[in-house]
Amino acid sequence: MNIHEYQAKKILQSYGAKIAPGVTITDIKNAKTAIESLPGPVWVIKSQIHAGGRGKGKFKELEPDAKGGVRVSFSVDEALANAKEMLGNTLVTKQTGPNGKEVNQIYVEAGAEINRELYLSILVDRETSKTSFIVSTKGGMDIESVARDTPELIHSVAITASQGCTQANANELADALNLKNGARQQGIELFKNLYQAFVDKDMSLLEINPLIITKNNDVQVLDAKVSFDDNALYRHPDLMELRDKTEEDE
Ligand code: ADP
Ligand code: MG
Repeated sequence: MNIHEYQAKKILQSYGAKIAPGVTITDIKNAKTAIESLPGPVWVIKSQIHAGGRGKGKFKELEPDAKGGVRVSFSVDEALANAKEMLGNTLVTKQTGPNGKEVNQIYVEAGAEINRELYLSILVDRETSKTSFIVSTKGGMDIESVARDTPELIHSVAITASQGCTQANANELADALNLKNGARQQGIELFKNLYQAFVDKDMSLLEINPLIITKNNDVQVLDAKVSFDDNALYRHPDLMELRDKTEEDE
């Protein structure tokens, strides 16, 4: 089962991850109030669909040169106009297939001041059944292209289940991502917490692309994709509730 970005972020926030303040909108009538509940000066309007590549996606109903499914907006009016162009329309991305996905919900988020975009995922290797972190300093682009063009910029760290994400593992990840000072401390804490979330919630994939370093040298989760092992869901009544909501959306 997949959940939306905003739902994944809420889970990660409960494990101590920094995320931007944000609100969801399903009805355009509520959009202005929702947007005005965030102080600005930058609002990011984000289509909530179960597929990545939204930023570079295209809406079927809009002109081909219209902007994609993630839009940075510099006023309430611009944010509102962007929300209107997304809600109810069909977003086609590299990951949706040609039919695209209808956008029934959007997430409005405070704009982050990005210094660096990184990539981080946690996944279970099918062959070895081992859980690994995959990280790269080349965040914000699709990881398949990075793997093809610059494989040396992808670093993987295998975790020993009985030990969890150790200090040594976390240090290795921080080194691979070239984290310094405050960001290094925050990163080390975050990696351990993300691993704990992955295990506690029986995730099969956790992908943060991008994980960012802000201008203030904070580490922030800017996008999040989480997939769950369906067979383990009965152990997680909280996630069953998300499943019900998520299925209503589609
Ligand atoms: P997708 O991966 O589906 O395209 P993302 O959430 O990764 O969607 O957004 C695409 C890009 O938009 C990010 O790499 C980042 O550069 C920018 N972005 C997303 N959210 C924000 C935000 N809150 N503030 C500033 N920029 C953002
Ligand atoms: Mg992304």
